[in-house]
Amino acid sequence: MTCVICKTGICKPGKTHFSVFVKDAFVVIKNVDALICENCGEAYYDSETTKHIQKQVEVAYNNNADVDVVKV
Ligand SMILES: [Zn+2]
Repeated sequence: MTCVICKTGICKPGKTHFSVFVKDAFVVIKNVDALICENCGEAYYDSETTKHIQKQVEVAYNNNADVDVVKV
């Protein structure tokens, strides 16, 4: 697929890190499957992966609000 951000790059399957602020914590999920734009690096996640990410973020936050890195 063609990247919708830069409109020139081709998105290819790969691994990336997903990071997000949750209230008072910064959560990083490592090695997430994604389609990554070879031009600008924008990452796209399918619906299954998005669910997985949301779950991981929730678990990480609930287990320890200070956690900032989670391996998957
Ligand atoms: Zn792009």
